[in-house]
Amino acid sequence: MHTENLILGAGISGLGAAYALREAGRESVILEKTDCYGGLCVSFTIDGFTFDHFVHLSFAKDERVNRIFRAGSPEIVTHIPNPSNIYKGKWIKHPAQNNLYALDPVERELVIADFRKRPTEVLTPPENYEKWLRLQYGDYFAEHFPMAYTRKYWMKEACELRTEWVGNRLYQPSLEEVIAGSLQEDKRVTYYAKEMRYPQSGGYASYLKVLAENADIRYNAAVKSIDTQLKVVTDVLGNKYEYERLISSIPLPLLIKAVENVPAEVKEAALQLEATSGYHISVALKTKNIPPYLWWYIYDEDILAARVYSPSLKSSANAPEGCSSLQMEVYCKEGAYTESRLIEGTVGKLVSLGLIAEEDILFTHVGFEPFANVIFSQPVYEVRDKVRNYLKSVNIETIGRFGEWGYLWSDQSLLSGLNILV
Ligand SMILES: Cc1cc2nc3c(=O)[nH]c(=O)nc-3n(C[C@H](O)[C@H](O)[C@H](O)COP(=O)(O)OP(=O)(O)OC[C@H]3O[C@@H](n4cnc5c(N)ncnc54)[C@H](O)[C@@H]3O)c2cc1C
Repeated sequence: MHTENLILGAGISGLGAAYALREAGRESVILEKTDCYGGLCVSFTIDGFTFDHFVHLSFAKDERVNRIFRAGSPEIVTHIPNPSNIYKGKWIKHPAQNNLYALDPVERELVIADFRKRPTEVLTPPENYEKWLRLQYGDYFAEHFPMAYTRKYWMKEACELRTEWVGNRLYQPSLEEVIAGSLQEDKRVTYYAKEMRYPQSGGYASYLKVLAENADIRYNAAVKSIDTQLKVVTDVLGNKYEYERLISSIPLPLLIKAVENVPAEVKEAALQLEATSGYHISVALKTKNIPPYLWWYIYDEDILAARVYSPSLKSSANAPEGCSSLQMEVYCKEGAYTESRLIEGTVGKLVSLGLIAEEDILFTHVGFEPFANVIFSQPVYEVRDKVRNYLKSVNIETIGRFGEWGYLWSDQSLLSGLNILV
């Protein structure tokens, strides 16, 4: 077949590009590997319980994005973020750095002593994330909290990461705030988003409804090869699509593998683009008795999960009456753990901590995402630019989290698609 615009990937960015083209009166076809649209923003329902793929809440500011989200889901639940942490089996309000009051007194003193020892004048910016963390929080806190978490969430040591992505994601309190928070709870919302929104029903994917309406999506059509000379894409079923314009939201390393005749140095650069992958382990419960936090981080390394969120707290419509749900995130390569080890290291640990009861569990579900977060390793920007410049030279435009290869939230991924030139 022939199409004016061919879009690869029906995640929020690919759908956004198709939507922008449609509004401008142009046709497009989307090729999607799976049997549904949404990508990372997809939701699924089992026995009346709705789950997303990892925690998803919206803090979009852009009016165009919010109009699209509201059109998909007119009823929205609004939350003031109340994240928490599990550290050595105990709850600590998030961010822990200005809520040390819940720590054991000896550890509290160790954190404050190292916080005081931080240099007051910094002449050169820290060259990696570990140095940045030590400078911001002192050695004890850096080592026991964010450096431990980096191993679980980013699958890397902090010294292997760059710092540009941090932005306002980690709260940087003054010594006075640290001391005040070591005496009593810091009641302010110091999380970087002050309000979070979520569809009342249907899960996060409801936000994408109007984007997908009237979109020509070909499902189970994973891209296999791309001939940029003849301008033809072939999918795994052998179907051929001639295009005039090609827009891709699929992860850059997969795109490079599909393009024919890529120069060796570009292939080499693409091999250095790293992303986390991970399992989401969902659990349905026949009780409403779960921890009251929308999401929580786990620092303890004997628990496989890095983070837990509650779909039923995001919206009560995500679970049947009288029930609740949790989903845990474990970052690792596919197959690193068996399914029973994943359940034992997540659900089993919550049971042994007394946070949920074994007899309340209705079912568990395990899913895997091959691309979750871009890893900001040292060569990331250089190799990303090399790959994207090459793709531009063969007339492939790249959009979205894995096309721009950045730390894009869903609203930013949508804008990446909406903002293509039409
Ligand atoms: C753990 C986690 C938590 C997050 N939490 C939030 C949050 O709270 N709020 C928020 O706003 N954002 C959040 N995000 C970010 C958000 O999920 C992304 O920004 C957004 O979903 C990316 O959309 P995309 O279209 O760029 O990519 P994707 O969603 O990855 O879409 C790419 C699409 O391409 C398809 N594809 C892949 N390979 C091929 C192929 N060979 N052929 C055809 N199709 C292919 C995929 O199946 C997929 O549908 C989170 C992300 C993660 C990982």
